[in-house]
Amino acid sequence: MNYPYPSDPAAPRSLGDLSRLHANLAADLDGAAERGELVAYFQPQIDLATGRVVAAEALCRWWHPRLGMVSPGVFIAIAEQSDVIHEVGAFMLEESCSFLEETSKNGHSLEVAINVSPAQLTSTGVLDYLAPRIESGALDPQKITLEVTETIEIVDLGLAAAQLNAMRAIGLGVSLDDYGAGHSSATQLGALPVTEVKIDRSLVQGDSEDSRTQVAEVIDLARERGLRVVAEGVENSEQNEYVVGAGCERAQGFLLGRPMNLSKFDRYLTGWLAEA
Ligand code: C2E
Ligand code: MG
Ligand code: MG
Ligand code: MG
Repeated sequence: MNYPYPSDPAAPRSLGDLSRLHANLAADLDGAAERGELVAYFQPQIDLATGRVVAAEALCRWWHPRLGMVSPGVFIAIAEQSDVIHEVGAFMLEESCSFLEETSKNGHSLEVAINVSPAQLTSTGVLDYLAPRIESGALDPQKITLEVTETIEIVDLGLAAAQLNAMRAIGLGVSLDDYGAGHSSATQLGALPVTEVKIDRSLVQGDSEDSRTQVAEVIDLARERGLRVVAEGVENSEQNEYVVGAGCERAQGFLLGRPMNLSKFDRYLTGWLAEA
């Protein structure tokens, strides 16, 4: 685990310290959603053909009362070890639906991408939340993509695939996140009923022949299967040109926009439209 605050005098100095810190964070995280400590950030996704903002990925933040902002890279893994992941998941579903409502009130027709942990696919929570809202017409499923990662293989792949199929059946999008970060990407892409693949930033930012080959291969595979390709981690214009040239439909990264809270995202949209 990466300790997020190396300058903190309470920073762990031994394994024992580290496991106490882990236990403390786990205890603190319990009920964090109810106490209002979680915040949803949104990072823009750009359609590379039109240059328009078409979607946002919802990314969770935890405002710890003593430590300040804790990154999801730290706390999601902890949340996944208990039922807390379902609280985090429920919070992010609500916030993502509010995002759709709020941005549409302001005249923008955007989609939202929501990260779903493997643990969430072993319960029906996500579908229980979304399905009735879609059925009542309150939500347009075409505006929602659920992002899953290939670590999904560590849970029951059969059960996860069944849930993903059920999500697809009601019109939701499913994205394979972090493609190329692991080893079994191509296998997963074959096994899961996805509508989109997100190329991991290690491939987008890597300029080795191997990473270029992998990107070309996944784009070919996506073409064959009619999947949308999103490039993650675009930090500079060279990377942007590269992913455009490679044939990605959408891009996301610090060059195009950082993750922001909803009010900042709204101002970002206004600025982006003014420039376009
Ligand atoms: P992810 O789903 O792959 O999300 C993309 C991560 O890359 C985000 O980190 C984002 O801030 C970061 N990023 C975006 N553009 C760039 C760039 O140009 N350069 C670099 N270096 N990084 C970039 P973040 O927000 O820290 O989230 C880390 C991971 O935590 C996410 O990776 C996702 O796996 C997980 N996560 C975040 N929010 C949630 C959530 O609500 N639920 C679940 N289950 N997992 C979440
Ligand atoms: Mg993601
Ligand atoms: Mg990713
Ligand atoms: Mg991820």
